[in-house]
This record gives sequence, C-alpha cells and structure tokens, in this order.
Amino acid sequence: MGDHTDHTEKSTPHELPLYQKVEVPSQTSETARQYMAQMVDSLDAILELDLASFAANKTLPAKLFELLSEALDCYDHYIEHIVTAEGWDVSCRRGCSACCEHELARGVTALEALNIYRHVRDWEDIGSLYEHAAENAVTFQQLLAEEMRREPGPLGPDDPRVTKAHLAYNRLKRPCPFLDREQGACRIYPVRPLVCRFFFNLSPAEWCDPDHEGYLKRETRCMDPYTAVQERLHAINQRLGIRVLHFLSGAFMTLAGNVMEGKPLQLV
Ligand code: SF4
Ligand code: SF4
Repeated sequence: MGDHTDHTEKSTPHELPLYQKVEVPSQTSETARQYMAQMVDSLDAILELDLASFAANKTLPAKLFELLSEALDCYDHYIEHIVTAEGWDVSCRRGCSACCEHELARGVTALEALNIYRHVRDWEDIGSLYEHAAENAVTFQQLLAEEMRREPGPLGPDDPRVTKAHLAYNRLKRPCPFLDREQGACRIYPVRPLVCRFFFNLSPAEWCDPDHEGYLKRETRCMDPYTAVQERLHAINQRLGIRVLHFLSGAFMTLAGNVMEGKPLQLV
C-alpha cells in the first residue's frame, strides 16, 4: 500500500464504506486542474451542439461522441496523475474483475448510458445484454423497495437505505452485463462510465469478494471529477431530456428500452 501519512488526506466515510471519497493535494495540482479544464472545454463544446433533435427523432451529432471521448480521456489522465502523484499501490489490474462480478455501479448518467447504447446497439447479443441488465435492475429495485418498506419516507441524497440495498445487491453476486467473464475483462472498456474509472482498491484484491471478511474494511479510493464537470454533465442530460435510473444496469435498461425502444441512434 502507498504511504499516505505525509499527505493531508481526508476521508469522508459513508455509513457503509462502499465508496470512500478522499481529498488529496494532487487533485488540485496544476496538472489536475489542466485536465479538468480540458474536460470542461470538451463538455462545453457538446453543449454548443444541436441536442434538441434527440427528443424529436433520436438523432444526435456524431461530434458529440468524439467530444465525449476526449472528455473521458482527460478524466483518465486526471485519475492516472493522482494515482501516480499520491504513490497509491492500487490492486486493480486487467483480468481482476471480482468487482464487476457483483458491483451495481451507482451514479451513471443518461449521457453515459447513451454512449454505451451507441457502442453495443449492433452487437449480436444485444438482446441478452438487455435482459441481463433488466434482471439486475429489477433485483436492485426490489431490494430498495424492501428497505423503503422497513423505513418509509422519501429518498434523500446519500440515503442509507440505498447504500443498504446496494450492499445487499453486491452480496447476491450478479455480474455486470458488460463483463466478459471468461477473460475477466470489460466489454465496453472505452465507453465504461465514470464510476468504473474512478474506483480503486488498495487492499488485497481477494477482499473484493463481498463474502470476504475484509470486504467492508477495504481501503478504496473514489475520485470524483470537479464540480464544474459535474455541472456540465447535468446540463447535457437536461438538454437531452432523458431520464434514466442512476445505476449501470438500470440506466442501460431504461435508455435501451424506454428511451430508444431498441432502435438505432441516428448520427449526423
Ligand atoms: S476493485 Fe477489486 S476486484 Fe476490482 S479490479 Fe480492483 S482489486 Fe480487482
Ligand atoms: S462496465 Fe465494465 S468496468 Fe464497469 S462494472 Fe461493468 S464490466 Fe466492470
């Protein structure tokens, strides 16, 4: 594990340590700021495109996805910079996929779901991907409904009932629909959502099994993009006028089924 003792690292604990967010000096270094500024520029350029035609005829400028890809590259560089600068000894490696065997991947936006849909729409197994995502989504919704029956009331931000349902979901070990289980690899790697890019484990990889006694003691890292980036992503979603469930399988299910109705996305 990297040495964090020299840094002014601050953990913001969840009531259950699923996503441990930290603040570290390299997040605001000149290099990090530049990557985030470039990401904002790419997202601002998306906001200048004609996004209104999506609602009318499911058509979008092809340029949108070029710009989104640039934005995601900036984000990957930002993460890489922080991991290197902080000297984190990350256990995550290609082929290590226990997390993808059970993870819900919360915090997925409509734009990300659209990017994934565009990527997989013509795959031969699109039908089974959709069914798999739908089964995952229904399972999580049922777990959340149980939590809400136990403790009624409107859901708030960082609601502990969502975290409890998330943890119960992880323990059911339902694989992500986009995981190639033979290769232990992500099939949508270039378009995977931000949440799959910013989560790292610094503890032994075997602790990532929800049945392992170390699971809730893992030292993990989540690096959100700057608020300015999140605001742009929100603004793009508003302009697109799409509402999806905010976890990966749910977002894909609602986007593919309710929004696109299985039809191809038209690019101009
Ligand atoms: S989070 Fe855990 S299972 Fe996933 S890649 Fe990292 S070490 Fe492996
Ligand atoms: S999208 Fe890819 S990285 Fe994310 S959980 Fe699924 S398989 Fe893993």
